[in-house]
Amino acid sequence: MCVKMARLSIFFHGGVGEIGGNKFLINDEESNVRLYLDFGKNFNISRKYYEFPFTYPESIEELISIGAIPDLPSIYTSFKKEDFRKGISVEKEKETNLNAVIISHAHLDHYGHISLLNRRVPIYAGECAINIISAMNSLIYSKPSPEFFYDGLNLIPFRTGKKIYIESRVSEIEIDPIHVDHSVPGAYGFILHTSVGAIAYTGDFRMHGPQSSMTEDFIRSLEKEDIKILLTEGTHINYSGTLSEQDVFYKLLDLVKQARRGLVIVDFSRSDIDRFSTVLKTAVETNRILVISPKRYRILRAILSSSGIRTSNIDLESENIMILNESKRRLSTGEKEVLQEIPDDKKITFDDIKRNPDQYIFTVVFGGIKEIRNLKPPPGSIFILSSSEPVNEEREISFEKLLNWLEHFGVASYHIHSSGHATPLDIKSLIERSDPEIIVPIHTEHPKLFRRFIGNYKWFIPASIDSRLDIE
Ligand SMILES: [Zn+2]
Repeated sequence: MCVKMARLSIFFHGGVGEIGGNKFLINDEESNVRLYLDFGKNFNISRKYYEFPFTYPESIEELISIGAIPDLPSIYTSFKKEDFRKGISVEKEKETNLNAVIISHAHLDHYGHISLLNRRVPIYAGECAINIISAMNSLIYSKPSPEFFYDGLNLIPFRTGKKIYIESRVSEIEIDPIHVDHSVPGAYGFILHTSVGAIAYTGDFRMHGPQSSMTEDFIRSLEKEDIKILLTEGTHINYSGTLSEQDVFYKLLDLVKQARRGLVIVDFSRSDIDRFSTVLKTAVETNRILVISPKRYRILRAILSSSGIRTSNIDLESENIMILNESKRRLSTGEKEVLQEIPDDKKITFDDIKRNPDQYIFTVVFGGIKEIRNLKPPPGSIFILSSSEPVNEEREISFEKLLNWLEHFGVASYHIHSSGHATPLDIKSLIERSDPEIIVPIHTEHPKLFRRFIGNYKWFIPASIDSRLDIE
């Protein structure tokens, strides 16, 4: 009996029916190339078994056993905790048949589990993404789990306009990385030239952001190709806000001007450079000092030191920016370095802020309950959530606690945000312009709505993390 082999298969090892955890294995039989598009951390599975920061994965085997990572032992590192402490050498790593991992951008749901990979595997990412990943690594204080060891990885930078060639023993495939706009700089979409035709992957993208021309460049590249398969994100296919970054600036400015008394606290992602620029402009216009943590400073500096970053009008040395000096807490290497490098007159303590709260905008992430308890903001202060709303139960619980603390201190809260993800009609426009043969909705909780809303195409909806798409 003759079994016909698929010429190419895509294995969906994450990012199906959920937002993030993207891990798509492309197995191209003809060229014998095996590569992953993204290798993100699957927060939904992790959350089922572990409670951050109290319990962590013990081992790679444990993560495989709970289905958090694919059951392909040769793709993972054979080094243990002790080896990392002593310093590893790649020669001692076992052989692997994985030719490459391609990272779309530096968000944990896209790169988080590269820490577990065999150190022989080349990991390709944009220069800025590599700088962010390295900065994040320097900010991890303790490493109780293999998930946290990012040392010794074989990270290789790419840029828009330069092709990546992934070689196997037999042949190679060619990949075009093309920049897209997202809520972190250094984000890319890809076109893979495989033996069955062009496969496009959007990564995460938006068209309403400050760098929308980058997403436009990506879509134009898709238009020029005959796209066989399109893997597209659909985070907001069911529901979408409409604010642009400029709208966020006007609304923020208006609020901070009104809040003459008290402290202003703004919650937003540390790697969102556009939002940082918006909040800094607001601070300058309202004569307030922007207070950032050493962690945020370290990440911003990593971003701004990357070549080709378009938000270069940010000056971290500006007199409107001060760095929080928390002497009591134990600090990571990255934080210590920041506090050693910056001059004393750029440092500020909780007590300094408490003396004159109406002179500051204080920045936090994930609610910042700890900092808010330290600051004891006076009644009449405001809290502005300038990131996504809590999207899961765990975040909802801590968000509820945050609201309790804010109420306790007499602080009112607002939500002002412009998302990193495309709106439903913008996703539709990308699909129509690229006109693929097969569409695969990924990074969405609503793949069926996706198909109904867009209509008219051939769809492949991966049902679970065991799904595969075979092209004959
Ligand atoms: Zn994502």
